[in-house]
Amino acid sequence: MAKSSGKIIVDPEIGEVQIVKSSRSRSISIRVHPVRGVRVSVPRLVPYAAAIAFFKMKRGWVLEVMAKQQERFKDVKVASPDEVSELRRRAKAELPPRLAELASRYGFTYNRVAIKHNATNWGSCSTKNNINLNINIVRLPAVLQDYILLHELCHLRHHDHGDAFHLLLEHFLTDNLMRRLGEEDELSKSLARKAAVSKARYPIDYTMSRAIKQYRLI
Ligand SMILES: [Zn+2]
Repeated sequence: MAKSSGKIIVDPEIGEVQIVKSSRSRSISIRVHPVRGVRVSVPRLVPYAAAIAFFKMKRGWVLEVMAKQQERFKDVKVASPDEVSELRRRAKAELPPRLAELASRYGFTYNRVAIKHNATNWGSCSTKNNINLNINIVRLPAVLQDYILLHELCHLRHHDHGDAFHLLLEHFLTDNLMRRLGEEDELSKSLARKAAVSKARYPIDYTMSRAIKQYRLI
């Protein structure tokens, strides 16, 4: 591990700028990250004053990059009240029967299922074996809807993300994906091809979790 130390300066428009001295840095560089913010990496022997001078020289560029990142965030769609109520209506009609079908096929029993609208998770399973499903699930292709539902069902047996949970989930995901392939589902075919060459420990779970990342909760 490279040793690092640093200080923070505050720019009136940009906010906090981290100046980090690192034995790995060979020259001064700036990174602008939408979440982690602005970071100036400096070789250990370069004084802070030089790093700050470099940052001031590049300040205009940093502001431009930040503006572009903000633009990208604006593309994230916000659902209108009408869209939300339509998603809720569809979710209530479609998700509980599908959950019941998968549960009976794979031998799970749960307490209650509730349809929720939140911006933080696709679904959850409580220790009381109640399953919550996000209305956004109906925006996903069928094979990925099943992915979320199976994930929550497996939590009925393992309320964590340990190896036992992942082994069980991978087993049911594999079985379900095979059934989808039998139905000539194009997305399932492409996911199966990707999973087949994945070096991940749980290739189907990994491939589907990547596919889900293209969708945002609205
Ligand atoms: Zn989970």
